[in-house]
Amino acid sequence: MLIPDDLMVSVSGVRGRVGESLTPEVVVRFAAAFGAYLRERTGQARPRVVLGRDSRTSGPMFVHAVTAALQSVGCDVIDVGLAPTPTTLYAIRHHQAAGGIVVTASHNPVEWNALKFASAAGMFLDAEEAPAMRAFVSDRPIPRAAWNQLGSVSFDDQAAARHLHAVLGIPFLDVEGLRRRRFRVVLDCVRGAGSVILPRLLDTLGCDVVGLNLDPDGHFPRAPEPIAENLAEVETAVCEAGADVGLVTDPDADRLALVSNTGRAIGEDFTLALATQLVLRHRRGPVVTNLSTSRLLEDVAAAAGVRLRRAPVGEINVARAMEHEGAVVGGEGNGGVILPDVHLTRDAAVAVALVLQLLLERRLPLSDIVAEHTAYTIVKDKLPRDAGSLEDAYDALEHGLGAPRSDRQDGLRLDWPGERRWLHLRASGTEPILRIIAEAPTAEAARALVEQARQALSPTPSAP
Ligand code: MG
Repeated sequence: MLIPDDLMVSVSGVRGRVGESLTPEVVVRFAAAFGAYLRERTGQARPRVVLGRDSRTSGPMFVHAVTAALQSVGCDVIDVGLAPTPTTLYAIRHHQAAGGIVVTASHNPVEWNALKFASAAGMFLDAEEAPAMRAFVSDRPIPRAAWNQLGSVSFDDQAAARHLHAVLGIPFLDVEGLRRRRFRVVLDCVRGAGSVILPRLLDTLGCDVVGLNLDPDGHFPRAPEPIAENLAEVETAVCEAGADVGLVTDPDADRLALVSNTGRAIGEDFTLALATQLVLRHRRGPVVTNLSTSRLLEDVAAAAGVRLRRAPVGEINVARAMEHEGAVVGGEGNGGVILPDVHLTRDAAVAVALVLQLLLERRLPLSDIVAEHTAYTIVKDKLPRDAGSLEDAYDALEHGLGAPRSDRQDGLRLDWPGERRWLHLRASGTEPILRIIAEAPTAEAARALVEQARQALSPTPSAP
């Protein structure tokens, strides 16, 4: 079968516009390939596969296609229904399943959907696991099961309850203290899957909740990515309610953004920084994030006297590095917090619990806690790139800009710790572009770094 050119295929999944690059035929092909891969990998005749989806209107259609495909290759499907991505991933280990598929395009606009593939560990496939699965999409015939060996389907309506229980079991979460404190919060789930768990979590933590967009019907009322520019409605609601904090998730509730008590969206980088600050009050150990995440996290780690390790961009790379380092907390600057006490994946429910616990312990308004941190500006840019290697250009920049620290794990990252600025260049995994990102204490300094990179790379990034 031909795979559409504009289907975005990455290590851990496939993504496309519904009815254009992403059709039931494409979804069936990838889901059957994943099932065949799991059978081969586990040696099991009937591997179990957990299946969940976010609230997109195309979700049920693709769940049917995925279910049929998995059954056709002899996998038993455990359908957890509409659920946050972290809830579905948590269910994989509970069921001792061979893997899982999440039907979600995360923060992408409403016309997109995607499949994300997870391993038995409840983590997304990594660069070592993906090629074996991909071989069943492109080269290898898919071994279908005979009529009497088809997989079964069962439904699990307790996945959210178990996930919630795990979040409430975070050892340093003072549930009774939080209940007494009765935080007033605004919660916006953008009509996504967060509504399945977050209202219950906040209710259990004794919060007085003003809810926005809690109907998980997939009709996103605004651009669903929880970046500051999309959060005007929440900012107003926080002011009107006199709330302690505004909590905003993306449609599959693995990312959390915060609006402070003054009604200002403080930027997603603060979610991980504040969650980390809380964890480091109780645990001492390494912290892991990706190469494009704000220096804020470096400041938080340094203040606690622990090491920050940076991993290549991509959730699975951060999770694997956390495993390797024995990290106590980690995640991404996009609001994705990973707490190994619960599981090694980004989880907005975990992030909510950690942020509320920080507010409880610090006894300060969120705006005061934010004001303790150096303000940084991140500037992002991109350049078209041709197919050639970027190594020569990276070499030239590395020598030309004379940064005290250089990291080549994922593109090129140059760091000037003394001046609190850095520059990261990396080729996109899904588009023919080079991403440029810089951070500095002022917008001018960040823009200057981006401009230096652009000049060094023009006219063609791959030119020697
Ligand atoms: Mg997401």
